[in-house]
Amino acid sequence: QTKTPILKLEQVEVVYNKLATAITGVSVEVAAGGITAVLGTNGAGKTTTLKAVSGFLSSDNADITDGHILLDGDDITGMAPHQVARGGIALVPERDKVFDTLTVLDNLKASARVADGVEDAFDAFPRLRAVEQNLAGYLSGGEKQMLAMAMALSTGPSLLLVDELSLGLAPLIVTSLLQDLRRVQRARGISVLLVEQNALAALDVADYGYVIEDGRIVFDGTPEQLLEHGDIKEFYLGTN
Ligand code: ATP
Repeated sequence: QTKTPILKLEQVEVVYNKLATAITGVSVEVAAGGITAVLGTNGAGKTTTLKAVSGFLSSDNADITDGHILLDGDDITGMAPHQVARGGIALVPERDKVFDTLTVLDNLKASARVADGVEDAFDAFPRLRAVEQNLAGYLSGGEKQMLAMAMALSTGPSLLLVDELSLGLAPLIVTSLLQDLRRVQRARGISVLLVEQNALAALDVADYGYVIEDGRIVFDGTPEQLLEHGDIKEFYLGTN
C-alpha cells in the first residue's frame, strides 16, 4: 500500500497452546483513512490475525511468538485488550457481539467510552434509533451486526477491526452492512481492517486486500488486482 499506514503487522507469528502455529510471517499494512481487507477461507488465520492486534489472544492461550505490531509507529505487540482500546482500536467480534438481555440503547450505553458515544453511534446507524428500546436478543441477524458495529463506534475509535461481518447473513444484508461500514468509515475518516470469507463482498468496499492461506499471506493488491488473479478467482470467488 502506498498511503501512510495507521497499523502495521510485521512478520507476525501466533502459536496456540505453545505448540500449534496458526499464523506465521504475516505482514499487513492498514492505510490511514481506508478499508483494508484480509480474505481467506475457514481456518486460514483471519480471526487469529485480528486477535493478535486486539490483544485477545491470551484468553485463548495463544501468544505472539515473533514479529511486531505497530500502531501509528508505536509498538503494541502483546498489549492487553484495554491498552489496545485506549490506543483507539475497537473490535467488532465474530460472535457474542451484543448483550441479548439488554435493550439496544443499554447496549450502546454499556459500550460507549466517550461522552457523545451513544449519540454518535445513532447518528452513524439511524435505523437503530427506531429499535432503541427493543431487547437486542430479538433483533434480526443484520440488526445485531449493525448494533455490534455501532457499539464499536461508540468507543470513538480511529481504527475498527471487523471480524467476519458476513457470517450467517443473507447476501443482500451483507452488501447493505458493508455499504453502511463504508459510509461511516468515510464520514468519520476512520480506518478499517476487515477480515472476510466473502471475498467479493469485501473487495467491493475495500481499498486494498490481502489473501491469507494456511496462516500465511499469499497475495496482496488492489481489489482490481485481486479480482484479476487466477487463483483468487478460482478459489475465493468461485469463478474462472
Ligand atoms: P474462521 O473463519 O473459521 O474463524 P479463521 O480464518 O478466522 O477461520 P482462525 O480462527 O484464525 O481462522 O484459525 C487459524 C488456525 O488456528 C486454525 O488452524 C485453527 O485451528 C487454529 N486455532 C484457532 N483458534 C484456536 C484455539 N483456541 N486453540 C487452538 N487452535 C486454534
